Amino acid sequence: MSKLLYIDLTKKQIIKKQNAFEDYGRGLIAKIIREEVSPNIDRLDDENVIVLVPGLFSGTLAPSTGRLLVGTKSSKDEGIQISNIAGTISQKLASLNIDAIVISGRNTEEIPLTLLIEENHIELVNINNIKGMNVSSTIDIIQDLYGKECGVIGIGPSGEKLLPISTLFSTYPEGSPSFYCARNSIGDIFGYKGLKAITVKNKKHFNAPVYDAENMKRCSKELSKIIIEHPICGKALPGLGSITLMKMLSQGKNIDMSELNSNNNIKNNYIDTEFKINRTCSPLCVVGCLNRHTKTGEDYYSAPAESEAYAALNECFGINDKQYVKNFTNRCFELGIDCIEFIFSCALYFNLQEIEGNIKEMDKALEEVKNLTLVGRVLGSKTDGMYSLFREKEKYKKMVSKPSIVEEKNFNIDIQSKTINLPGLSDLDYLYAYIITLENLGFCLFASFAFIDNPKALTLLSKLFFYKTGIESSEKSILDYALKTIKNEKEYESEVRLKNVSKTIPNFVKVLYRYFHKDETKVYNE
Ligand code: SF4
Repeated sequence: MSKLLYIDLTKKQIIKKQNAFEDYGRGLIAKIIREEVSPNIDRLDDENVIVLVPGLFSGTLAPSTGRLLVGTKSSKDEGIQISNIAGTISQKLASLNIDAIVISGRNTEEIPLTLLIEENHIELVNINNIKGMNVSSTIDIIQDLYGKECGVIGIGPSGEKLLPISTLFSTYPEGSPSFYCARNSIGDIFGYKGLKAITVKNKKHFNAPVYDAENMKRCSKELSKIIIEHPICGKALPGLGSITLMKMLSQGKNIDMSELNSNNNIKNNYIDTEFKINRTCSPLCVVGCLNRHTKTGEDYYSAPAESEAYAALNECFGINDKQYVKNFTNRCFELGIDCIEFIFSCALYFNLQEIEGNIKEMDKALEEVKNLTLVGRVLGSKTDGMYSLFREKEKYKKMVSKPSIVEEKNFNIDIQSKTINLPGLSDLDYLYAYIITLENLGFCLFASFAFIDNPKALTLLSKLFFYKTGIESSEKSILDYALKTIKNEKEYESEVRLKNVSKTIPNFVKVLYRYFHKDETKVYNE
């Protein structure tokens, strides 16, 4: 039977419980948080928990399913915050037959703890020199101690200092790039709890228990084909980054692929390098969007995060120096901060202070965060935290980052080839149910372009569910479970918030709104 791990950081206690399979993915996170955290608990509170759940297909041969879901109570008057994390840790955890890790309590000692998980050994370890370390040094220290095959997630110095802009890093397979920092993450809660990192020492990525391995493999191949053959999913999105793609989609669905055709040059650029080149952030992603990003034959981006940063820096400040963007992204990641949100925070701050945004000012801003000055704390409080200090300047309110759901009213979602029609379910709600299904199952959301209006994909997903669990499944049952997940999350939120209770949908839906918008001409406002 699979396991749930309960880690109490106050008592330094580790309890393993057997898990009878009922819930999975975000549904399991919602269930555990509702059991463990009363709704009026604040974000940085000893009673808050962090729940880590590998997507259901993680650790199997289903393609592009290396995603770990991390959930927590967002803040006193909000519901559950979910972060969808790439890297190797999800497959390694699933291969140890671990369904969830629940972290509670708080370690108040000087040195933050590291949770080490191996096949027959789980321990909270105290690594002396890890406190205050930047991200790459943290990874080096841990992998020197426990081996390069470890999958690690954790925080940099900004998380230890509880900055709201801090996020979780996650390691990729051995190679370059070796890690990334997720968006919308929860570094401050790790910092508050005195937890620096979680390390999973396990060489295996595809050892999760499967009810019918042969059919799982066969169906996984069919699903891989659907992903690879899709022009957006397999090429444009990973090549351009979602911010650029959103802009292009505002002109219609015909994406110009010409600037991506020089991808083959990237291989040549790397031939003499001493680094192993990573194509995927976890094994068996059939998209493999790392080191495929290019704007010209000579310049390249190694990961989607750099493309996103390029688009954001260019849009906010007209910065288009590609080498600078790489370097800037890297410095943000070393601090363990959400690079894109930091760029938007700087844009707001510069407007409020009437500073002209440029490379020099961006460097200065990053130093302020690094040195944790007063300005650094303001910049590190994200756009919403910062704007709360300047409410009288109403014209800048529109620069505050908003949840994706705020945009839904601008779009008329039309999904041409739905696999099933559920009574009373609009195309928009079908889209939401599908995205949450993909998160529940552990898919990288880049795969969603290929699946959502493909008439066969949902059927394959429901078959895979059966081959993985041995539990009868249908297209309807997996979508229904996603709808139930959304309902549970909303109910929990409604216990603390009497109005404006809304769904929590991944930010990536902003791209999908544009892709599935009914008219190909631009009819919404950018
Ligand atoms: S598509 Fe890109 S971001 Fe998604 S899992 Fe694959 S390599 Fe990672």
